[in-house]
Amino acid sequence: MPEIYLLDVTNRDGVQTAKLGLSKLEKTLMNIYLNEMGVFQSEFGFPTTKHESHYLQANLELAEMGVLKPIRLEGWIRAIVGDVETAFKMVPDIRHLNLSISTSNQMINGKFQGRKTRDDIINDMVEAVDAARSLGAETIGVNAEDGSRTDLDFLIKFGLAAKEHGADRFRYCDTLGYDNPFTIYETVRALAENVGMPIEQHCHGDLGLAVANSIAGAKGAIDGGQDAYINTTVNGIGERAGNADLVATILAITKSKGFAEKYPLAGSVELTRASKIAEFASYAFGVPIPINQPGVGANAFAHSSGIHADGVLKDPENYELYSFKELGRGKPKFVETGREIIAGQYSGISGFGHVMGEMEVSFASKEEANEILELVRYANVESQRPLVEDELLFIAKYPKIAKKLLTLTPLE
Ligand SMILES: [Zn+2]
Repeated sequence: MPEIYLLDVTNRDGVQTAKLGLSKLEKTLMNIYLNEMGVFQSEFGFPTTKHESHYLQANLELAEMGVLKPIRLEGWIRAIVGDVETAFKMVPDIRHLNLSISTSNQMINGKFQGRKTRDDIINDMVEAVDAARSLGAETIGVNAEDGSRTDLDFLIKFGLAAKEHGADRFRYCDTLGYDNPFTIYETVRALAENVGMPIEQHCHGDLGLAVANSIAGAKGAIDGGQDAYINTTVNGIGERAGNADLVATILAITKSKGFAEKYPLAGSVELTRASKIAEFASYAFGVPIPINQPGVGANAFAHSSGIHADGVLKDPENYELYSFKELGRGKPKFVETGREIIAGQYSGISGFGHVMGEMEVSFASKEEANEILELVRYANVESQRPLVEDELLFIAKYPKIAKKLLTLTPLE
């Protein structure tokens, strides 16, 4: 029976958002949290972008070591042979790719401006698929960018060509957030039925419909007999109005009226990690979680009016669809209100030793402590905000990996 897989794109769509970004260590922690949450795949970056290559390679090493397991790490590139070759040159261990190319007449005329025809689009894409396969890609997704403004007939032709060349998934991109749940259902169902391969939904929130469209599209894929992959981002952060929020998408699939009976999530997703990943993303991006954010917002379980407060005290189910405990909330939070010692880019060994000691981390030697401190300094230079506990622990535990992913020497 077909199922819904979560493919998170925070480390690609999220970080390419205007005015926002993550350090390489923050991106790594994001992959770790996504893995702990049971997310199937992370689109973890851009294999043709020079400053990403150390980070990508280091995260693939973490996968090899079993730290990032079972999550699948996949890179996003353009669907052209040159990008595929560059990706494998710069990140030789990459095994999962999504290849993206615009398919709509709007983009063919407005962006390529006569340089590409529809036949060129298909040719570029299948050549890129062939190249990726021959260079060692294990799974390949093909992205129809601006798919929602592309004729269905051409999308089917595009998908069939991809399938014929051995692609594994078809990403239907509602790049501008133009679809509604009714249109995306019909389109994705038709794609699933006519192309016969798993369909990814990549939805944006320009009309406030990203999550609704994602689950409607997933229903279309499954009704069409195929697995569905929903693209999410943590806290919905992505281009412009953002993407489908990871936590809200999980809640919509698992808690909305009767949905999960026929359209279940694949694998075991740990919703109890929701609060932690949302708070980390908020801190790392420097973007507060809206007070009314589903599940993780400050007001998601707050009641003040007489009838609601009375009702929820008598029986939480009177006014709550799900429990705060399911999202990992309800534990007391420690906030320091007195003296604080912080490990930063100008820290010395005494303050650093104190910070690590608070977390019950001790070092075998002075040399080791100094080596970790040096890495912490560099991590702080990159993030420009105090590192969270998990970042400090990560550096202490995997100094060689940390050194690699913090290496930002410009390449030739
Ligand atoms: Zn996008």
